[in-house]
Amino acid sequence: MVRALNGGRGDRKVEGVRQLVRDINECDRLLAGRGYPRATRRDELPELRIGECGEQVEALMERIDEAYKKLLCQPKLLCPTKSGWIGEWEYRTPNGRTVTGPTQIWLAAVYGLAVGGLLGQVRECKACKRWLFARRKDQRFCSGGCREKDYRSSQEGRAKRTAYMRRYRNGLRRRDEENLRVARKKRK
Ligand SMILES: [Zn+2]
Repeated sequence: MVRALNGGRGDRKVEGVRQLVRDINECDRLLAGRGYPRATRRDELPELRIGECGEQVEALMERIDEAYKKLLCQPKLLCPTKSGWIGEWEYRTPNGRTVTGPTQIWLAAVYGLAVGGLLGQVRECKACKRWLFARRKDQRFCSGGCREKDYRSSQEGRAKRTAYMRRYRNGLRRRDEENLRVARKKRK
């Protein structure tokens, strides 16, 4: 899954799957932040319609639905065996054509991971934006190298900001002193 998400740069279909994963995870993050609502159906979520976060969640859910409109699947029992039937899901486009493309399989895989509570672990590295499967809940980087890079750039950023604020404050002080001098001169 992660390998698939990291491939197909510039491929519109793969980008669609990537956006779907981002949307689902963002929706999850927003609702987790308010404490998950106890509902088993979408129309049991009236509180979603209230407030800014509710609108965001609704927009995300609409986009998620839209992505899945491209995937129609039908269970197909192929043949009985001693230990049960061999079965598979057959994927179709909305106009009825059978499809075996990777996009349909990814859409189904994303669904499976989301329902299984694992999709949140499929995320983008904070530094290089490559996709990864997080082994720990708080893992944000694909490698030690990226964690190091991010740490260094944030340290550099902080140092630059500190230097800028120092210059800024010195500038203000000089201006105050100058104003004071001018005011004193006028009074004389
Ligand atoms: Zn990385």
